[in-house]
Amino acid sequence: MTKRNPHFSALKPTYLFPEINQRKLQYLAQHPTAKLISLGIGDTTEPIPSTITHGLVDGAARLGTKEGYTGYGQEQGQSLLREKIAENIYHNRVSPQEVFISDGAKCDIGRLQALFGGDVSIAVQDPAYPVYVDGSLMHGVKQIHYMPCTPENHFFPTLKTTPPVNLIYFCSPNNPTGAVATHDQLKKLVQFAKIHQSIIIFDSAYAHYIQDPTLPRSIYEIEGAHEVAIEMGSFSKIAGFTGVRLGWTVVPEKLLFEDGTPVIRDWMRLFTTIFNGASNIAQQGGIAALSTQGFDEMQQLTQFYLENARLIVEGLKHFPLEIYGGTNAPYVWIRFPGQKSWDVFQMLLENVQIVTTPGSGFGPAGEGFVRLSAFGHRENVLEAIQRLQKLF
Ligand code: PLP
Repeated sequence: MTKRNPHFSALKPTYLFPEINQRKLQYLAQHPTAKLISLGIGDTTEPIPSTITHGLVDGAARLGTKEGYTGYGQEQGQSLLREKIAENIYHNRVSPQEVFISDGAKCDIGRLQALFGGDVSIAVQDPAYPVYVDGSLMHGVKQIHYMPCTPENHFFPTLKTTPPVNLIYFCSPNNPTGAVATHDQLKKLVQFAKIHQSIIIFDSAYAHYIQDPTLPRSIYEIEGAHEVAIEMGSFSKIAGFTGVRLGWTVVPEKLLFEDGTPVIRDWMRLFTTIFNGASNIAQQGGIAALSTQGFDEMQQLTQFYLENARLIVEGLKHFPLEIYGGTNAPYVWIRFPGQKSWDVFQMLLENVQIVTTPGSGFGPAGEGFVRLSAFGHRENVLEAIQRLQKLF
């Protein structure tokens, strides 16, 4: 018989979102007429803006013509899209050659984990997006240091107590806490990585939710970051592409392995070996999203979700709750002192039929918190706020 990959036994039996779904279905089986409102999974709900939709439609239509048909493209992505990302997202802080187009940030995190393998030590923000830890475990990573990010340290890791590690996963704006790192904080992180010769894997999937111009949208706004950081980005939450699938990873040419090999060289090898490029239709959508009109539409879309987040925070702030996040980020993070996250999840499901995400699913320091997502139709968000106001 085929042996099971032993690394899989290091994983907890269920992944967070399937467990939430299971509890939701269980509740609905017992209460078939209940009107559940989901502020749980961070999935977008609003239609893709029109310029971007047209880009997708044109991309698809072109494939139906002799002149426009294309098959496999360059694995790294279409040059025009790489140029637009370098220019419009990074303001030329990175070159198009350093941008690799993909089917999303999560998939790139998985591929990066394959690049570094299991023989690395890692540090992760705690709480954090689950794929950083679970994907690492799948590759056999044994040394995992959790860096607690709580209200007590303003959601920024205490670097004095962080051991030297090979890889540091860092996400800003953060999922799930909604915390956004400042320039000074990222400077400290880059300095730490330089001293310990670590590589930062910077997840900027929510960067465009940052409206405060004093906050950095990219690690490359920090001097010296090109020598220590890889950054991934995504069209998922800014263009409604969670189902379309399009993202990118920046691997700077200056980033080197211990033996002097440029990381970009191995990344290119890995990318061209196990990936055949992002969908050409999706890439046309991405190009449209980065046109002047498309960019405005993405801004309106993010504003819509940010307004949801603002309404949630405003609607709950007069109650005896500890509320964090929700500005410059689409997540609201609420602490329920002395309670377990899954108990709060269940209580909210049963008492007000609202689905949240238990903080403990994002790491040990998430215990006692739940995450509310601002991704939802406005009427549902307003109704959820009313229900919560009655409860508290
Ligand atoms: N990174 C973070 C922090 C996320 O929260 C998510 C999705 O929820 C992703 C990456 C996934 O991005 P993509 O849809 O591009 O794979």
